[in-house]
Amino acid sequence: MTSLTNSNCLCGSQHSYQDCCQKLHLGTEQATTAEQLMRSRYVAYALKNAKYIYQTYVQAKQAENPVKEIAEFANSCRFIKLAVVSAEQHESTADVEFCVSYFYQNLFCQLHEKSNFIKEAGLWRYLDGEIFPVADLKINRNDECPCGSGKKYKKCHSV
Ligand SMILES: [Zn+2]
Ligand SMILES: [Zn+2]
Repeated sequence: MTSLTNSNCLCGSQHSYQDCCQKLHLGTEQATTAEQLMRSRYVAYALKNAKYIYQTYVQAKQAENPVKEIAEFANSCRFIKLAVVSAEQHESTADVEFCVSYFYQNLFCQLHEKSNFIKEAGLWRYLDGEIFPVADLKINRNDECPCGSGKKYKKCHSV
């Protein structure tokens, strides 16, 4: 048996959750790069930690992204994986392009986004992003699951 703490972090870093995004979620450490913050925000979505996602928005965006709405979105999705495409960081601005795969109901969805981050009071925060549209894929129960497990959808990520 492995616990979440000891198993590989959901951000795909190959480190344990404990040595990776958990420190950021607990607030014992702060992200030193925008990519690190982005990864920890993805893991927070996967773990339904809406408060962390809220807190890592720039202050000006927090009002339009209430914790309740973040939680509703996170709870309605089954997250599969994160792939970071590229990251570019400057003194106090950064952008990270990534692709997140998740299921929403019986749709396989991909969020392909180039996010903008800025430093606010010395901390990396999510500002906004440009979304590249990806068509959702309808999955039937007997299809192979798009998560890559090789199993049928009904025996894998089906609701
Ligand atoms: Zn991580
Ligand atoms: Zn699956």
